[in-house]
Amino acid sequence: MYKAKINIDKCPQNHACPAMRLCPVGAITQDGFNAPVIDKDKCIGCGKCTAFCPKKALYLEEVQ
Ligand code: SF4
Repeated sequence: MYKAKINIDKCPQNHACPAMRLCPVGAITQDGFNAPVIDKDKCIGCGKCTAFCPKKALYLEEVQ
């Protein structure tokens, strides 16, 4: 299956992450304007956040 991951080098970390409200399982959290954090136990790999992020900072990675 797939899980979302974050590439913090691509995230400008200067805004509230708009992908948070797209996640159907609430797997994305953010502390201030820091890069969002993905709870890999909650993430179902739907890809909504990764398709949405305009900076391509969120991506899906295959996990066992
Ligand atoms: S891939 Fe889907 S379930 Fe996983 S963090 Fe992104 S929006 Fe949430």
